Amino acid sequence: MAKNVLVVTIDTLRADRLGVYGAKDVATPNIDRLAREGAWAPQADVHVPLTRPSHVSLFTGLYPAEHGIRDNVSPPLPADVPVLAEIFRRDGFATAAFIASAVLDRQSGLARGFDVYADRFPPGVDRKPGDAVVAEAIAWMKPRSPFFAWVHLYDPHAPYLPPEPYASQYAGRPYDGTVAWCDELIGRLVGALRESGALDQTLIVITSDHGEALGEHGEDVHGYFVYEATLRVPLVFRGPHVTPGTQIEVVARTIDLPRTILELTGRTGAPRTSGRSLADALKGARMREEASFSESLVPLLHYGWSDLRAVRDGRWKFILAPRPELYDLERDPGESHNLAAEDYAKASVLRGAVEAALRNEQITARFDTAVAGVSPEVLDRLGALGYIGAGGSGDRTARGADPKDTLAEYKVLSTTMQDALIALRTSRHADAVARLREIQKRGVGSYEVHYYLGRAYAGQQRWREAAGEYDKAARMLPGGAEAWRGLGESRVALGDSRAAVPAFERLVALAPGDAVARMELGEALRDAGRFQDAARVIREALALDPRPAQYWHSLGTVLGAAGDIAAAERAFSEALSREPDNGQYVYNHGVALYRLGRKDEAAAALRRAAELGYRQ
Ligand SMILES: [Zn+2]
Repeated sequence: MAKNVLVVTIDTLRADRLGVYGAKDVATPNIDRLAREGAWAPQADVHVPLTRPSHVSLFTGLYPAEHGIRDNVSPPLPADVPVLAEIFRRDGFATAAFIASAVLDRQSGLARGFDVYADRFPPGVDRKPGDAVVAEAIAWMKPRSPFFAWVHLYDPHAPYLPPEPYASQYAGRPYDGTVAWCDELIGRLVGALRESGALDQTLIVITSDHGEALGEHGEDVHGYFVYEATLRVPLVFRGPHVTPGTQIEVVARTIDLPRTILELTGRTGAPRTSGRSLADALKGARMREEASFSESLVPLLHYGWSDLRAVRDGRWKFILAPRPELYDLERDPGESHNLAAEDYAKASVLRGAVEAALRNEQITARFDTAVAGVSPEVLDRLGALGYIGAGGSGDRTARGADPKDTLAEYKVLSTTMQDALIALRTSRHADAVARLREIQKRGVGSYEVHYYLGRAYAGQQRWREAAGEYDKAARMLPGGAEAWRGLGESRVALGDSRAAVPAFERLVALAPGDAVARMELGEALRDAGRFQDAARVIREALALDPRPAQYWHSLGTVLGAAGDIAAAERAFSEALSREPDNGQYVYNHGVALYRLGRKDEAAAALRRAAELGYRQ
């Protein structure tokens, strides 16, 4: 049995760029050698061509509809879905993950089960170069055993910026350069294991979360279509119980990995998954084909067009779309000749399988996804990575246009959305408004468009327009906390605190641990004259975070207005103990002292406030 497990996901890696998979002009000697010394799957597929949901499938053995993560912008993985790392930690393994993209940071919920989850990035940066990730992983693995480690490399994800010498060696094809660079990094990981004597006791799994279209079917990157250009990935195993030189004869699936890894390490008590163990195939045994389902909800969730669902059964693949597609992957691996009309019988059988899966999904799917509870920072970071489309149509049942017919529109919209987000980030608010309006003119009126328009107007202090856009966004996605915050803040800026209260109440209900949200509600209640309610809510905020002086100051003003001067004085004292030189706090403290009859102390305080330059 393997003592250690090392899973490496090389993000965005096409299988056909590796030597073992037939690439002639990309040097990948380290991965090729692992495949020779171990086993590899000529045909391995993921279930969704997006980083976060695909990785969640890998570590849960569940289809996206089953684990609930359908998009890169999502709330965390629900706590009741078991993940692979938890089992290894339970069994006494040291566990660690080394993450190269903000899309997989701990907000994803994937950190569960890991002792160490290295997902911190410098401010303003949302990805980490592979050599830094690998160096951290090596330093962690070296003194440990047994361990379960996950290393995530992001270098083949656009923009493709291979370091030297790969930039020069692969001039004109930088994507290939990043692949060669990642192969060098795999060499470093394997070399470190060999040096420490752990290599032959370690199960190594190398795969990816999706491929990259690179122009196939008109798609540039990944996430939109469900062709093999983005679903097919490499899959290589090396370690105990893996017979060297083995080729897995069946289509291997991402959801098969948890059971496979557990069996190869002798773990029992595997949670329910939808995958099977490939352990027999890794010893060279013949296995039965099992269908692999896949999806892209990006056209539906972000644009209101049709979603895409596919099933692959061995050599046959069917895509359910307004115009369905059938391909014989053995004869036509590029999926260029649609046989849906020619081979109606075959298409019908596979269509039946997809429709059965869809019916099952309607019963079991977890649809609490979309962008509820996602912070604006996360939205922004994901947007800057090109992950947020023009998006988030509120109507999830809409079956719109065939994504094949809207590809050009998709490209324009996603580019415009990225430009708008960059404009917003760099405080070019008018520019952001212009671009977001352009998206609207093209017929996409989504949560994100309204939310970002609200932010762009707020940036220009055009509060009436901002409030209108936030209001639309909040109506479309009532679980989107940040739209309620924006709406409340805009109404406060318009001088209408009474109207801001219900918006902040919705915000607080959605973000119960957010002290700032409670302060915003408390101050709106105060300004609306509801002092008792305000005092209660501000005390709740202080229970969550007692540090900020201004919270205590706000509490003092509310208590003072409600006539509880003794309590107000204590609150102002708390504020002053945190910020002694704030003239406003000193002044209000002085007023409270005066009203308590402590005239000398009051006079001293008011003098000091004047010295500090505070004028009422
Ligand atoms: Zn990815």
